Amino acid sequence: MSLPLDARPKMSSALRGLMGACPACGRGRLMKSYLKQVDRCAQCGEEYGHMRADDAPPWMTILIVGHIVIPAVLHMEQAYQPESWVHFAIWPALTLALTMVLLPRCKGAVLGLLWSTGAPGSERA
Ligand SMILES: [Zn+2]
Repeated sequence: MSLPLDARPKMSSALRGLMGACPACGRGRLMKSYLKQVDRCAQCGEEYGHMRADDAPPWMTILIVGHIVIPAVLHMEQAYQPESWVHFAIWPALTLALTMVLLPRCKGAVLGLLWSTGAPGSERA
């Protein structure tokens, strides 16, 4: 009981996935653990277990985190010239925290976009 492709808006599907919600109905959960999607939505029954986002979520995460952390490091160094221990205390922790927060959201967005385009995203198709 899958929605036809022309009834799958790409932006809202990606945004629903980004929020961890089912791209099809927006009510069910998309992720059952940190990085593992549900086999099917508990609300609408849409299947997601076969979809593979592959390397796209890590690449998106690296791109976003890099564009936040690197300019912040450079700005802090140029503006305040802090001791090295300050850099070592702040930037690895911030990088790890941002990565942990963004990675599952990026995976959800990629799965939502894959679902909306009808791309197989699996070895099954
Ligand atoms: Zn659903």
